Amino acid sequence: MAKRTILIHPDPRLKTVAEPVTEITDQLRTLADDMLETMYDAPGIGLAAPQVGVMKRLLVMDCVKEEGEDPRPMVLMNPEVTWTSDEMATYEEGCLSIPDQYADVERPAEVEVGWLGLDGAQHSERFDGLWATCVQHEIDHLDGKLFIDYLKPLKRQMITRKMQKLKREKARA
Ligand SMILES: [Zn+2]
Repeated sequence: MAKRTILIHPDPRLKTVAEPVTEITDQLRTLADDMLETMYDAPGIGLAAPQVGVMKRLLVMDCVKEEGEDPRPMVLMNPEVTWTSDEMATYEEGCLSIPDQYADVERPAEVEVGWLGLDGAQHSERFDGLWATCVQHEIDHLDGKLFIDYLKPLKRQMITRKMQKLKREKARA
């Protein structure tokens, strides 16, 4: 396993719609392993392939946060939201591609998602709480959408400017 570099907003790859996975290759398994390692190391609870510059519809997540609880690393390929609750929930979201910036985002409180697993089988599960927010945030990444796209333009521009400055500083360092 190897850690991958996480792209920082603004980057055109983060605004691009990713391609469906058509075949489960060893390369894809390695990518999933690397992404999980990168996510846990960050630390984060979700990571989508475009965030490491791979334009495939694959995401990893693990929203188990309680100390002592077993981790639940999940790999979802070609995920599709098949049902959303009418009830909405607001979470303060962050993103590994937009470090240290947080904002409230409202999304359906529960979603049902279908996806292709690394086992080659089709899976379906209903998510709520943090898992529901996380899976919707990560699926957005596969469609070139970031959580700041839900914010008012002024707030979004402010965050984008901060990230441009951060990238300039990183490039100089
Ligand atoms: Zn994100």
